[in-house]
Amino acid sequence: MSAPTSVQRMDKIVSLCKRRGFIFQSSEIYGGLNGAWDYGPIGVELKRNLKNYWWRVIVHEREDVVGMDGAILTHPEVLTASGHVEGFSDPMIDCRSCKAHLRLDQLIEKKGIKQCPNCGGKDLTEARQFNLMFETHVGAAADESSIAYLRPETAQSIFVQFKNILEVSRKKLPFGIAQIGKAFRNEINPRNFTFRSREFEQMELEYFCRPEQGMELLEYWKEERLKFYENTGIPRDKLHVKTVPDEERAFYSKGTYDIEYDFPFGAQELEGVAYRTDYDLSQHQKASGKSLEYFDEETKQKFIPHVVEPSAGVDRTVLALICEAYAEDEAPDEKGKMETRIVLRFHPRIAPIKCAVFPLLKNKEPLVAKAKEIVDLLRPHMYVFYDESGAIGRRYRRQDEIGTPFGVTVDFETLGEKDPALRDTVTLRDRDSMKQERVRISDLLQLLSMRIA
Ligand code: ATP
Repeated sequence: MSAPTSVQRMDKIVSLCKRRGFIFQSSEIYGGLNGAWDYGPIGVELKRNLKNYWWRVIVHEREDVVGMDGAILTHPEVLTASGHVEGFSDPMIDCRSCKAHLRLDQLIEKKGIKQCPNCGGKDLTEARQFNLMFETHVGAAADESSIAYLRPETAQSIFVQFKNILEVSRKKLPFGIAQIGKAFRNEINPRNFTFRSREFEQMELEYFCRPEQGMELLEYWKEERLKFYENTGIPRDKLHVKTVPDEERAFYSKGTYDIEYDFPFGAQELEGVAYRTDYDLSQHQKASGKSLEYFDEETKQKFIPHVVEPSAGVDRTVLALICEAYAEDEAPDEKGKMETRIVLRFHPRIAPIKCAVFPLLKNKEPLVAKAKEIVDLLRPHMYVFYDESGAIGRRYRRQDEIGTPFGVTVDFETLGEKDPALRDTVTLRDRDSMKQERVRISDLLQLLSMRIA
């Protein structure tokens, strides 16, 4: 069997995502809304596990970070001060031949002449600015005075609430404020499945510090974030750190790294880690007229803190996790004949369902009763799936396809029918090796909890 090309691999991943309930096109029955995606029953679990793990590592396991959850509707002055109203735009070009709307940086150049990447046409319009923010109106009047924006990033509400949070949390520098939430950008060309969407989620940390700590903390957070991805199952050799060159960096940033992942469609950004100096807080202080300074009790100094920002995309990371997990191998079918198996090798920590519980036969009441007892035992601690329908091999295969790391089967040994020593034991199947071990029901919870932590 020859290895699939990256396009074929991506096609298989997209179709698996739909078939098994990870991700659907939004408004699909009406033809779909471009750039918007809905997560299905399995996808939502994966996404939550990722967000919960980020929150655990960034907020709960640290002394120096607190969380917040800001509004999506944003006052226009916030985004004027941040520079988004003026500058958050991409230069756009239209191709007069095929009518494609293109970003200037997507044009191809042959012999110094710019061409449409779609049709090769050279009849292109002048570049014009296209603001990426979604505008809406608050209240009944739809005029200038009622404009609000759907936030294009979660960061700004953190800056705007900086003083309130500083006061209530009584943190000293350096400390951070974390947020996970939706952001909206009217991307010109949403593409590569969920990679570039118009509605997406971000996981952002604004880590405030003294000016002299900025560069060092930039390095620190880059390393922390790389560790995070490794701990979700993305190996280090599939991650690349790109140092954003001076000419591409925002003028206020003293250093920015992009963390990229080797997607089937190429190495692309998962996260930006940027040292943004005191730009954001200074802008909001100037525009609002409210002091956003920090008072240092020890030195009696007053100053605007600097900030390092690791800003990650939830949807892009979910997509990376799926791409990384997707594998095809060989497994025996019902009759022992080898067949291709699709398996998602998620790290147990982020796997949507942690454990599936199967009675060997569904028409044997004692097997079913025991299996349901095990479900009740595990359910308060992890997401468990009960399945009694179909041949056991097929049930395993269904779980392999959604990446369930463990399968527990209740069989006649469990009932002590063959060997009394095996009473109240079950088989625990490992998704990747397909090996089975015999474990006591009384040990199951501890054993699984350890493996999914
Ligand atoms: P890109 O260069 O890919 O447009 P960006 O540099 O504009 O991204 P940031 O503004 O740094 O992105 O946003 C931080 C993170 O938010 C990105 O690393 C990415 O994970 C996520 N993100 C940004 N835009 C999108 C989008 N359109 N769809 C999905 N995720 C996005």
